[in-house]
Amino acid sequence: MAVDHNVFITEESIEGETAGPLAGRTIAVKDNLSTAGVRTTCGSEMLADYVPPYDATAVTRVTDAGATIVGKANMDEFGMGTTTETSAFGPTRNPADPERVPGGSSGGSAAAVAAGEADLALGSDTGGSVRCPAAFCGVVGIKPTYGLVSRYGLVAYANSLEQIGPIANTVEDAATLLDVIAGPDPHDGTTREAGADSDYAAAADGDVDGMTIGVVTELFDGADERVVETVEAAIADLEARGAETVEVSLPSLEYAVQAYYVIAMSEASSNLARFDGVRYGHRGESDGNWNESFAETREAFGAEVKRRILLGTYALSAGYHDAYYAKAQDARAWIKADFDDAFESVDAIASPTMPVLPFELGESLDDPLRMYLADANTTPVNLANLPAISVPAGTADGLPVGLQLVGPAFGEETIVRAASAVED
Ligand code: GLN
Repeated sequence: MAVDHNVFITEESIEGETAGPLAGRTIAVKDNLSTAGVRTTCGSEMLADYVPPYDATAVTRVTDAGATIVGKANMDEFGMGTTTETSAFGPTRNPADPERVPGGSSGGSAAAVAAGEADLALGSDTGGSVRCPAAFCGVVGIKPTYGLVSRYGLVAYANSLEQIGPIANTVEDAATLLDVIAGPDPHDGTTREAGADSDYAAAADGDVDGMTIGVVTELFDGADERVVETVEAAIADLEARGAETVEVSLPSLEYAVQAYYVIAMSEASSNLARFDGVRYGHRGESDGNWNESFAETREAFGAEVKRRILLGTYALSAGYHDAYYAKAQDARAWIKADFDDAFESVDAIASPTMPVLPFELGESLDDPLRMYLADANTTPVNLANLPAISVPAGTADGLPVGLQLVGPAFGEETIVRAASAVED
């Protein structure tokens, strides 16, 4: 019997135009991207019945380019997770091994592509949520430079960190999808002109001759040996094709997970204040006072979301703001400076995407710290607003392993080029 991977929260098709660069392709869309007339739950009980009145810009762009949306993909609640197990709609199973998680938070999107339920997918990446599931499911995922892709219609988790990103079976397909969704949008003031006239698909030519790739020593140190071996073999392939590799050290990366979680939770606690039972979604039954009704309404959040609202509110409180939030912003600046220094002498930076193999279902749910630490290699990229790609490096014990390549701001063509050399 075929395994049900629980890829979609809502299976509903939205037809695209008949012509365009994505004509005839099917696409899964993460359920935090607004689709006019089709419910958009963010994997939460809070929005179980929410139907947006408008499309996200990225959704408009893919249907205008000819793609047909086949469903809204499962995800960790509001993007908060690394396994897709915090979804109120049950976990998604990894097509490579149904007893394991697909990664998260865009687990439904990556699993849809890996299981052949869609040709392409859109995810969002705040601290790794496109790259982690791409790595765990054995597909390609790109986190674009901050400002390359419009966030209009993306339900916000942590605005200063996140970007919508493509997921596909090949680097060229992912780059084609990036070409379609990239470019300025008057609805999102953080989008930039830079990169708008690039041709990412054309960059998937595998030509790394003369490219210098920095290998980050720190990001191999704590990783699972099987992951390290597989990623080192992929880097050796790049060398065989003419790339030069050099070791680089980015000492501030040791603060990335701490800084990321303080900033992400702080922004999340403020963003989620809008779910008050008045404007969106679930509303408590109580007709008592405002406090009672607000508390009842917010019962619809799951445990991980509540944890983050509490921690984020704490970090922003008077008296703690300087100790936590301001410190995290300092660390963010150091991390960015370390990357800037490294890009003086290298074209791209390589590491394992995830330091671990896909978790077994249920294995990490009661251990949030362990889950947060798994984001050590992906979160620095969001803190520094840089582009990165995860490309399949091979398998270890039959499980997919991803190689992450990070580029300088708006250097998507370079990382697409390098990644396409790995998959050949
Ligand atoms: N795992 C990270 C988190 O839980 C990343 C999530 C994301 O990128 N949306 O915050």
